[in-house]
Formats: sequence, C-alpha cells, structure tokens
Amino acid sequence: MSTEVLAASATDVQQASASAPAQSATAEKVNLLGMSRPQMEKFFEDLGEKKFRAGQVMKWIHQFFVTDFAEMTNISGKLREKLEKICEIKAPEVVHKNYSKDGTRKWVFRVGDGEGSLVETVLIPAEDKTGSRKTLCISSQVGCALDCSFCSTGKQGFQRDLTQAEIIGQLWMANYSYMEDVPVIERERSVTNVVMMGMGEPLLNYDAVLNAMRIMLDDFAYGMSKRRVTLSTSGVVPKIDQLAQDIDVALAISLHATNNELRDELVPINKKYPLEQLIAACQRYIGKDGNESARKHVTIEYVMLDGVNDHPEHAQQMIKLLKNLPSKINLIPFNPFPHAPYGRSSRNRIISFQKTLSDAGFVCTIRQTRGDDIDAACGQLVGQVADRTRRAEQWKKKVAAQNEIIRSQG
Ligand code: SAH
Ligand code: SF4
Repeated sequence: MSTEVLAASATDVQQASASAPAQSATAEKVNLLGMSRPQMEKFFEDLGEKKFRAGQVMKWIHQFFVTDFAEMTNISGKLREKLEKICEIKAPEVVHKNYSKDGTRKWVFRVGDGEGSLVETVLIPAEDKTGSRKTLCISSQVGCALDCSFCSTGKQGFQRDLTQAEIIGQLWMANYSYMEDVPVIERERSVTNVVMMGMGEPLLNYDAVLNAMRIMLDDFAYGMSKRRVTLSTSGVVPKIDQLAQDIDVALAISLHATNNELRDELVPINKKYPLEQLIAACQRYIGKDGNESARKHVTIEYVMLDGVNDHPEHAQQMIKLLKNLPSKINLIPFNPFPHAPYGRSSRNRIISFQKTLSDAGFVCTIRQTRGDDIDAACGQLVGQVADRTRRAEQWKKKVAAQNEIIRSQG
C-alpha cells in the first residue's frame, strides 16, 4: 500500500460559491480542469483569443495529462505566458492511494478543510470476450442527503457538492496514474467506462455532473462512448426527465425494494417519488431511444439484504414491476460497514433470486466483490480512511445514534 500527496487542493472558479474558501495565493487562478468545451471556448473568447484554442488546451489536459502550460507546444509562447499568469490545471489532492493485487485501484481525495471532506474513487479492471475494460466509479458529492438505510455515505449526511473540476479530476487522476512515467507524447487514455456510483446522489448535483459527463463524451477530451458512461440514481424523478433532454448516457436505478412500503424504509426518497413514478420516468427515458442511443435499457441495482428484500416473493414482485421496462438487473451483495443494521444475503439466496429472474426472461447478473484487500468495496473507503485519521470514534457514535433513531421509528 502506498500513500502519497500528489497535488495541492483543487479550486474551481465555476462553482466558487459551493467550494471551500480560497486557501492560497494561487487560489484566484481559474482552474481549466473542470471546464466543458463551450465553457472553455467562452473563456478564450473573453480573453480575446480564438475559440479553437479551447480544443487544443483540452487535448493537452485530458489526453496527454499535462498540467504545465510550458509543455503545450502548439500554443504560442505569448499565450502560454498569459495562461500561466491567470490559469491553472489542478486535480484534487490525493490523500491515500492503494493499488490492489487484483488490479483494483482506489484513491481518497481531500476536497476541503472541514472534518470529513474526503471522497473516494475506485477503478475496477475486467477482462471479457469483448476485450479489457477499466471501469471507474466516481463520486459526485461529499456525503449524501438521501440517507438510504444500508449506505455508509448516507450515514455521513450531506456536506457539499463536488465542483466540476473535482468530478472530472477523479477521471483525470485515474488515467494519469497509468501514464505518470510515460513521455507526454506517448500518453493514452486508459479508463474505458465510468459509473457515477461513488459517494453522493449525482442528480442532486445536476449541473456539475452534467458538464463533467459532457467532458467525458467530448472527442477533444476523453471521447468515451455514451454507452460506457452510466449515471446511477436512487430516483430523483424530475431530474431523470431533465437528463433525458440534456445528454445521452446510460441510466442505472438503485431500486433495492419492490414495493413502496419496503422502499420507503430503505430508500427514503421513495416517499417523495414512489415506485410507480420512478418506473414511469425510466420508461420515458428509454422512450427517447434512437438506434444509436445509450438508452436501450435501464440497469436495475438491487442490494441483497439478508432476510429483508431477498425473499422469493420479492423476486416475483420485481418481475411484475419491470415487465414493461427494458432492463438488466444487477444483484449487489451488501457490503457491511460498522454498526450497519443489515447482513449480506447468503450466496445460495442470491443465486436462487437470480434464477427466478433469469427464468422469467431477465438478464440478471451478480456483482462481484473486488478489491477486498484494499477495502475498495462500495461506500467503505472513506470510513476506512477516517479510521486511520482518528475520526472513527466520532463517526461511529453518529452512526450508532442514527441507527438508534431508525430502530425507535421501526
Ligand atoms: N446515489 C446514487 C449513486 C451512488 S450509490 C445511487 O444511490 O444510485 C451507488 C450504488 O451503491 C447504489 O446502487 C447504492 O445503493 C449502492 N450501495 C450503497 N451502499 C451499499 C452497500 N453498503 N452495499 C452494497 N451496495 C451499496
Ligand atoms: Fe445517497 Fe446513493 Fe447512498 Fe442512497 S445509496 S444514501 S442516494 S449515495
């Protein structure tokens, strides 16, 4: 395991009001890392420069992982000097990084001064018939306000939205980690897939997440396939409709329960947007379909909680619920965390749940648990780092108090 500080903390002028206060003499510089192409084109035009400079600079940043303007050899010396004075290219600060034996990599970023201002990013490699993939799980917020009862991020509460630079900075850093020692001109992009499944609810940090995903898809930046960028939501219905208007990416839904009574308990946003509304929004999202669209189906995420949502009757309810929604189901073995009020369903239980769904004609997979040797399981990383940074006791007390409230309400 290696631990290293790589860069100073990020600032992002686009979202200065949502960011931590400026901390250094360089803080007033404009961070170009998080700008989408239209934003950067406007920035260059405002400087009195040609807007095609935006595409050139974006390629240096996102395809060659250059942070020093002096290395941007197709930009005139005069413009490089100008940019150096007023801009910077700054990824968030890495406080821990771990590379697992199975190829999984994780980073914990510090995104502010405050207690618990940490977010996590995990990269999971996989080989299959179609070739090799590197999937990056990106965070969108520090903590989360939605308080799902099985999620350690939810137990931390909401602290703040990540800026565009902090969101795209996670992808930048993961790609850079493979290219650090490669000469600039030979560098390549390594990450093939992104899932917005880290900490936070991406649809509640809508503009920053949307612009970051635009950078992912942009040929002048990461040029990722729209089918390989997936946004996961617990069900913020109006924002699902807005997303359908704004961008073509794959959608995953954190279902976790097949009736409103149970889902109200596990995923409290269900009280505001119940299952019928959520499924209808997914159908509208798919309805925007064209042949080339990323929206051929919705991925349904379903965490397997022992004795809670893993009965045969739940599988039957799911078959009915999803019968008119093109979907692929992903069963997720629950990742326990300290004081969690649930256990993981047994392997047999998960397999028989899968069989019921497969027999009914659904594509249903079971998510593999990876990166166990570096604690890279969903939603656990920051908890582990917090342990090492001696915040554990405070955090555990908070979780215990919240669990007590849940028990007394139940
Ligand atoms: N807020 C978004 C995205 C982040 S959570 C959402 O809820 O979809 C990413 C996925 O991890 C979600 O499906 C979430 O339900 C799941 N998850 C959260 N805590 C988990 C745990 N302890 N074990 C397994 N999966 C978990
Ligand atoms: Fe937030 Fe997603 Fe965790 Fe629910 S599962 S608390 S929406 S991060």
